[in-house]
Amino acid sequence: MKKLSIGMRLTLWYLAIFALGELAFGAGMWFILRHSLYDMVDDGLEEQVDDLRNLLQAQGSDPSIAKLREEVGEAYGLEHLGNYLAVYSQNGELIYRSTFLQTHPAALLPPDQVNRRLSKSRRMDGRPFRFIFDKLSVNAHVYTVEMGTPADDATETLSFFRSYLLMFAPLLFLVAAGVGYWLSRRALAPVDALVGTARQISGANLHSRLQKLETGDELQRLSDTLNEMLGRIESAFLRVTQFTADASHELRTPVSLIRTEAELALRRSRGEAEYQESLRHILLEAERTTTLIEQLLALARADSGREALNMRPLDLRETLRRVVDGWRQVATIRNLQFSASIAAHESFVLGDEAALRRLADILLDNALKYTPSPGSVHLSFEQKGESAVISVQDSGVGIAEEEQSKIFERFYRVDKARSREQGGAGLGLAIAQWIVAQHRGAITVESRPGHGATFRVELPAIAAPVPSRMPV
Ligand code: ADP
Repeated sequence: MKKLSIGMRLTLWYLAIFALGELAFGAGMWFILRHSLYDMVDDGLEEQVDDLRNLLQAQGSDPSIAKLREEVGEAYGLEHLGNYLAVYSQNGELIYRSTFLQTHPAALLPPDQVNRRLSKSRRMDGRPFRFIFDKLSVNAHVYTVEMGTPADDATETLSFFRSYLLMFAPLLFLVAAGVGYWLSRRALAPVDALVGTARQISGANLHSRLQKLETGDELQRLSDTLNEMLGRIESAFLRVTQFTADASHELRTPVSLIRTEAELALRRSRGEAEYQESLRHILLEAERTTTLIEQLLALARADSGREALNMRPLDLRETLRRVVDGWRQVATIRNLQFSASIAAHESFVLGDEAALRRLADILLDNALKYTPSPGSVHLSFEQKGESAVISVQDSGVGIAEEEQSKIFERFYRVDKARSREQGGAGLGLAIAQWIVAQHRGAITVESRPGHGATFRVELPAIAAPVPSRMPV
């Protein structure tokens, strides 16, 4: 079943509460009115009962029943006030009962049932009446008095009130429904506007923003928050498209070089030496392409969050020694001095060995690449306080200060032509930075152009793990 809109639901809730309120108010007013009308009638009856008390008092201390019958009959027999009166003596003997009540005995109570003052409504011959039943103590005698009066005025007023109530309540309800619906539509109209704009935003126009609301309430907060989110999505989207464009561009270069080399070699027949030379060029470009694809894959996996590192406590000295050994030959070939000073005491970090090896490879590869011969490269590793610090220092070309913050960006190369020649696509340091961030560390660079560069990585050190006991 289709759910009702918020506006409709709000209106229905509001109407339900309004209807309950209206009902409670109407019923309350009706009861209050009835109570005060009957009170007025009862007050009148009480005054008449007082008059009767005075009459009885005037009959002396020990009047006979006959005398009382005569006096009361005389006073009330012809009076309309006596039309609905019955008086009994102490032992329940009837002193007076009007002709009307003789024909309607059901209105009366037996005298022995009247113990205190009571007020009751009665209906006789289709007319409403109000009765008071009371015990009167007069001159040491107790009389029972039952006196009534027609209550047409009160019931008529009540029924008028009821008709007005029944007439106006639905009218008021309809007006409230209309006003409620209009108000909720008005309050929620900005949401419709937001939905309308949001529906039109797609990958092609991510720069669009939702209409800015100036309502100063939750809706403004909602539109601002959605716009901030759109901003974040847009920049992430731009990063991805930029990355794809740069990656395609980088891949196109080696592939077209391979193609050109092969086309040239095949244009005419050549000697074996020439073919070998061409194949060597093709192999070199293929190797560069493989490296580039590996780097792209590493970054793509890092972005998707699928590159799960296998963190465990490891002594970095061992890892670094192996990496350094791997680069010695390259340094010799390039005619560079290469040295390393690795801490004498063990130093543990919580890390992924393969990733940290890759980090050291990237830094050493760069240092050897950007240091012309004759020059030197030095790797040092030591624990300083809470940090394990790896530094790679070279005496190479260095990096200008304004470039130092940019070199960690993807595809950023200080000198495009030079790097292409040396095989870098500008992804190494971006990968290095990601690895360091995964290890909750920091990577910084210090350099002066022409005076070399020092890359410094700080990783949080941990205590040496307790060796698991050997089984006996
Ligand atoms: P690349 O594959 O081009 O080396 P990197 O991300 O590793 O990419 O480095 C980005 C840029 O930073 C390099 O192109 C280079 O210009 C500069 N750079 C990196 N390391 C050094 C260094 N040790 N000395 C001088 N420049 C460096």
